[in-house]
Amino acid sequence: MTNSDKNSIMDDKIVTVQNPTDMTGVSSGYRGKVVIAHDKVSEIDFENLDKTCPTHSFDFDKKSQALSVDHGKCITCDKCRVLSPTLIKIKSNFAPASKNKAGLVESFDVGTAERSYDELGKELKEKIHNLYGRSLAIREVDAGSCNGCEVEITALNNPIYDIERFGIHFVASPRHADLLLVTGPSSRNMEIALKRTYDATPNPKLVVAVGACACSGGIFGDTYATTGGIDRIVPVDVYIPGCPPRPQALIYGILLAIDKKLAAKSNL
Ligand code: SF4
Ligand code: SF4
Repeated sequence: MTNSDKNSIMDDKIVTVQNPTDMTGVSSGYRGKVVIAHDKVSEIDFENLDKTCPTHSFDFDKKSQALSVDHGKCITCDKCRVLSPTLIKIKSNFAPASKNKAGLVESFDVGTAERSYDELGKELKEKIHNLYGRSLAIREVDAGSCNGCEVEITALNNPIYDIERFGIHFVASPRHADLLLVTGPSSRNMEIALKRTYDATPNPKLVVAVGACACSGGIFGDTYATTGGIDRIVPVDVYIPGCPPRPQALIYGILLAIDKKLAAKSNL
């Protein structure tokens, strides 16, 4: 290779991302969440969207003519946007976790600012230290997931996201865990296993539902083979929507769970 070849490679002006965890948001094509662009819609619009949506994520209030979307059900398939591109937009922002299901429902988009993975992680580290005086131990439970959520959870431990630097580690037994991170709708076959895992986790424990499936049944719904959301089996502290939620959304949900525990402690 000649010197001029080397320069053409080194000076191609293509700059890779220095630290992806420092960024807010992701590439513009990423399907983060559905947003509703109009504050009032017709009932016909709602009916058409409802027929199109595989998880029936939309709802309509006749009095105010407001359309709403339940991020806890939405699998970001994009079908609604294809049907009504002026009314429905897909943003790259993630749908934020909530301490209750009502908080997953959103109407007309008012726009919210996102914090980076690193920023959320640093706040989480401080709060975990204040609450536990040691690391937070997480046991992941797959209650019938498609494995998409596991791919994102696994990414938390890779060298890029490296969640251990915030004092969080994954453990092999529920007996060693402070928090259960549960994915999947749950399937009927996993119902007893999930309940036993919950019972085996020492108090005080936290349960976080990960992904549309764990929040509501998601694409699997409520069938003879699924239960339609893990809160039908165990109490849930925080719901993280998304299909699947990305690492930034996951760490925000864990932060919310720790906040809940801190608030409960200060009320004692
Ligand atoms: S993106 Fe898909 S699942 Fe989500 S609201 Fe639209 S049609 Fe329903
Ligand atoms: S929420 Fe989506 S990615 Fe996660 S388990 Fe369900 S279908 Fe798979």
